[in-house]
Amino acid sequence: MISQTSRSAENLGSRSLSRATKKEKKETRMDLTSEYEAKTARVIVTFNCERNCVYCCNKYGRIMSQATRISNVSSLRGFNTICVTGGEPLLSPEKTLSIIRDIREVCVGAPVYLYTARFIENMSEILDAVDGMHFTLHDSTTANEVDDFNRLQDMLRGRTGSYRLYISPSITLPVTVVPNLWKRVEVKPWMSEQQLLDLQPGGLPVGESVFILEPTEKRGSHGVVSRSWRSG
Ligand code: SF4
Repeated sequence: MISQTSRSAENLGSRSLSRATKKEKKETRMDLTSEYEAKTARVIVTFNCERNCVYCCNKYGRIMSQATRISNVSSLRGFNTICVTGGEPLLSPEKTLSIIRDIREVCVGAPVYLYTARFIENMSEILDAVDGMHFTLHDSTTANEVDDFNRLQDMLRGRTGSYRLYISPSITLPVTVVPNLWKRVEVKPWMSEQQLLDLQPGGLPVGESVFILEPTEKRGSHGVVSRSWRSG
């Protein structure tokens, strides 16, 4: 799942620079500077997924051809933000938790965000393990999944992580978004591969690299024994 949001567009948004105050202009410049220095690793930990979205970024061949296959999370050393994605990482929550813990040993201090569209019973354990979550309500979302989404929102109350919500505009069920839980809520169509390529170099946000994790049973340089999980 590749980021569907242009970071530049996120930072500038619909803000009217002509009306921005001096302070706002300064903040915008700081955003762009930090963006330039960002070094983000988007790590696909599985291609398994129960959905078959027509807009799935994993089908975007020209963008995905830039992905680097890695067998050990030690390859992520030096990245200052880690996005764990799939496929659906929470189809195998224990495996995903194990990967997140290994990443934390290698990328000390780097925030780890999870991209998911699935609610699981031990969601609290997942939320405890990450610094934030990008949750998606796809157009195929069922009534049961809307109920689960409401349970997730209950769990997020009082938490201080960075939680972002993406809602497909094609969703057919009513959804209630609780105020002040989400750092950002987006309702917009997914971009095509060509739109992403037109928007940003290589179709990826500036400073972002994509990895496909295919660990083998061997000890990494960071001293963590890699588990034998393989992208599906
Ligand atoms: S849920 Fe995500 S990974 Fe699965 S098919 Fe849809 S876009 Fe792709």
